[in-house]
Amino acid sequence: GLGLPPRIKVVLLGDSGVGKSCLALRYTRGWFDAGSKATVGAAFSCVTVALPHSGPSAKIDLWDTAGQERYQSLAPLYYRGAHASVIVYDVTQRETLAKAAWWLDELRRYAGQHMVLVLVGNKTDLADQRQATEEEGRALADSIGAHYVETSAATGSHVAEVFEGIVAQMAGGLPLS
Ligand code: GDP
Ligand code: MG
Repeated sequence: GLGLPPRIKVVLLGDSGVGKSCLALRYTRGWFDAGSKATVGAAFSCVTVALPHSGPSAKIDLWDTAGQERYQSLAPLYYRGAHASVIVYDVTQRETLAKAAWWLDELRRYAGQHMVLVLVGNKTDLADQRQATEEEGRALADSIGAHYVETSAATGSHVAEVFEGIVAQMAGGLPLS
């Protein structure tokens, strides 16, 4: 095989409202629900998706919060054993980009150093409301050793690339984008 673990744990991080749950839904189900409500009744939600290009045994466990990120700290079990982390910000909310660095610090406190990191600038469909440039996003990604992808959960633009890139990276250091 490709030397991948049978289940790849990917955690979603980032401020409340940046689009983490919508990205997870878009990737795992292929759709966007503009009227979606926060998940209730579970501390975390975890969906498993089979990877189309890497054999039947490789799966991604995609961990999403149920809204407790608004308290700005997640339980250590959320991070434990994670292979990759997707730190999401909203390109129309400048402060969420600055907060991405805070989320990285939080992650580093609990998780190992050898983790694939992806910084995602989401909501690119709202082009007329953009507050942070692609260059600013890339600069932060470079400074924290993360790959950089700009997405829209609403249109699906570049969403699969985030997760396929993680798998490619783990499988053999292929470039993410
Ligand atoms: P979370 O708190 O990070 O999980 O954010 P959600 O996924 O719940 O999304 C927060 C809000 O942003 C919801 O109203 C979504 O409909 C909206 N949203 C999420 N992603 C996008 C996107 O790519 N484009 C647009 N226009 N809205 C989005
Ligand atoms: Mg959510």
